[in-house]
Amino acid sequence: MTHARPADDPIDRLATALLAAGSVEDVLSVAPPLLAAALGTPQPARVDLAGDASVASDDERRIPLVADGETLGAIALRDDAPDPARDEIVASLLATAISTRRRAAAEQERLLQEASGLRLDVVSMLSHEMRTPLASIKGYVSALRIEGASWDRETRDEFLRTIEEETDSLTRLVEEILESAAIDAGLPRLNIEPILIPKIVRRVIDRIGIQSDRHRFVAMFSSSFPIVEADAQRIEQVLTNLIDNAVKYSPDGGLVVVRGEVRAEEVIVSVVDQGIGIAPEYLNKLFERFFRASPEHRQHIVGTGLGLPISESLVRAHGGRIWAESAVGSGTTLSFTLPIHATAAGDD
Ligand code: ATP
Ligand code: MG
Repeated sequence: MTHARPADDPIDRLATALLAAGSVEDVLSVAPPLLAAALGTPQPARVDLAGDASVASDDERRIPLVADGETLGAIALRDDAPDPARDEIVASLLATAISTRRRAAAEQERLLQEASGLRLDVVSMLSHEMRTPLASIKGYVSALRIEGASWDRETRDEFLRTIEEETDSLTRLVEEILESAAIDAGLPRLNIEPILIPKIVRRVIDRIGIQSDRHRFVAMFSSSFPIVEADAQRIEQVLTNLIDNAVKYSPDGGLVVVRGEVRAEEVIVSVVDQGIGIAPEYLNKLFERFFRASPEHRQHIVGTGLGLPISESLVRAHGGRIWAESAVGSGTTLSFTLPIHATAAGDD
């Protein structure tokens, strides 16, 4: 250590004590006993945070405490032989200690508020998301049970179909929440095997395609598209989320293209739609949990904001990346990469 002062220098002792102080209150309680010694005066010194540094009382000297151009207060003391060099070091130590503790406290407060606000948002969003289908199920069941009502067969079927759909959507919501919690507990365990992505894409398109006659689906994979080492079920889940979004967020229909590209070590799979698009300021938030862009559509398009964050975790677990490109009004492309050969991250 290249230190000019001896190890038990009072300034060092003050600095060490300040370093250990966790809060502004700690600073104010550890400082005074050490201050006088550090300033080289036999009289006690005090820290005056509220006081005006420019006004000194008759027999008191005040050393202003300034950090980042802001006057925080002053050290008030009585002494006969001021040493400006010492004053400056001690005041700057003290001012820095106070201002960093203040900043840390403010930041902590902000984080706390943000976290509790977020949790409230999530809870209110979830309860809304669950209450709507529950209310609808309850309503149709009550209608079916009305004493003396004789619904014709067609009406009855329609009621029952709605109940079935709402139950499915609740089940999906619960599954997503569970999946999301499982991912929180650690990266998902992958079952890596050689998989044929074009075949999985076909299966997902067949499954989602029957739910919409306004969309056309095209899969574009060259015949030389390689076999990839990945978890078939997880990749099917990612593709389901992306293709489901492509359909959901193009309410007027259009083309949904799923295409594959091959690079040296990886493949890129993209899902391209002609839907409502995403404003640029939302693009980097899509992968945050519960985030939903396009507020003007939220009423009509159901969703929880978990599909993309789950997809990102699954792609990342394989050692790949996922990203979005979009233009409002003309469509969105969501792409992800997968290493052709399972990486250490994906191997289990
Ligand atoms: P969930 O998938 O959990 O049912 P969700 O679809 O709202 O709900 P994500 O899939 O995570 O959630 O998508 C997050 C948000 O990103 C969506 O709410 C939507 O605003 C936007 N988004 C995602 N995909 C598209 C897309 N293809 N076109 C336009 N917006 C999209
Ligand atoms: Mg989704």
